[in-house]
This record gives sequence, C-alpha cells and structure tokens, in this order.
Amino acid sequence: MARYTGADCRLCRREGSKLFLKGDRCYSDKCGVEKRPYPPGMAGKKRPRESEYRVQLREKQKAKRVYGILEKQFRNYYEMASRQSGITGENLLRVLERRLDNVVYRLGFAVSRDEARQSVRHGHISVNGRRVDIPSYRVRPGDTVAVAEKAQDFTRIKAALISSGKIEVPGWLEVDVEKLSGKVLDMPHRNQIDTALREQLIVELYSK
Ligand code: SF4
Repeated sequence: MARYTGADCRLCRREGSKLFLKGDRCYSDKCGVEKRPYPPGMAGKKRPRESEYRVQLREKQKAKRVYGILEKQFRNYYEMASRQSGITGENLLRVLERRLDNVVYRLGFAVSRDEARQSVRHGHISVNGRRVDIPSYRVRPGDTVAVAEKAQDFTRIKAALISSGKIEVPGWLEVDVEKLSGKVLDMPHRNQIDTALREQLIVELYSK
C-alpha cells in the first residue's frame, strides 16, 4: 500500500501541532514542533489567514496523518461512519481507534502507530490467539490482542513498554504487561480518545 515516506516532523510542523508520530522523541526537547514552531519553508514568515475551507481541510489532513491513512481509505471510513447511527464525527474516531495498529500502539506494544503497523504486518500480533497481519483489522469488545511468543523478546517492543509510562492506556482497553496482551473491554467513547482532533470540521468538509 502506498504511504507517506517523508520526514514525520514536517507533518507536525505543517499542521502546527504535535501529532506524536515518532515515539520517545515526541516527548523530548528534540521535538521538531518545539524546535521550529513554524511550517516547513516558512521561517520568519507569518502564517497566511486561513479560510473556513482550509481549516476544515487541515483538520482532515491532521486526522489522516495521526492515524497514518491515505485519502481513499479515510474517505471510506467516513462513509462507514456516516451510515452508522449517532454522531458521524464520533463514529469516525471510533472506527479509526479500533484499527489493530492503533490498538497495539494504545496498549504500549509500540512507540508509535507507524511502528505498530510494522509489527502487525510482520505477523507479531495475534487477535484471539490467531495471527492477524492486517493493520486496518477492526477489533471488537471481547477481543484479546497479544504479542506473538516469538516476538516477545524484540527490543523494540520492550522499549515501547518501557516508554509506555508516557502513554496512558485508555479505559476501553486493558493491558497485561506480564503477558504482553490486552483486552478490548468496550467500544471507545469520545472522552476516552485523547487525540486532539475537531472531528466536526471533517464532517463539515465532507458534507459540502
Ligand atoms: Fe511531531 Fe513527534 Fe516530530 Fe515532535 S518529535 S514534531 S511530535 S513527530
């Protein structure tokens, strides 16, 4: 699948906020947004005034970048969310949060969603005891997500767990650090999703 391969910090600088794409570095003084708090190529220049459309567009871009998703798939998620009952914006975030790569990241088994995606693709993650190598797989309440036995000694996963003190496991998930496994307790609720996104702007954009 095609994906962005440029510098992650440029994406954060472009959006003017921390998207937490690089694990430990995001919590250090090496963070690109903190060192250079202006968009790439805009040193010493003022940000142009943004139209309503551009603000909505930027929010959608931000969501895509946080979850590492390209336009077509993101649009599909929106269509799915708009067909569900309830608030479309919240449905959209709920669908995104239930992706297996996001769950692996939320459980602290990877330092970033990018790394979580790699772990899933490489077959290091199982759901209910069966290997699942599809990052977009959507978990359901009652599912158990675990690091495969052969991968439990991988330094990257250990490093992620050590640094996971910085990442709070949300209330809809439960982690067992000893067993390197986690359980999906419930569907994620909006107040349990700490991603700083204004989802209503995305709905307004797609509703035009
Ligand atoms: Fe974004 Fe992390 Fe880079 Fe900071 S260090 S700019 S939060 S990816």
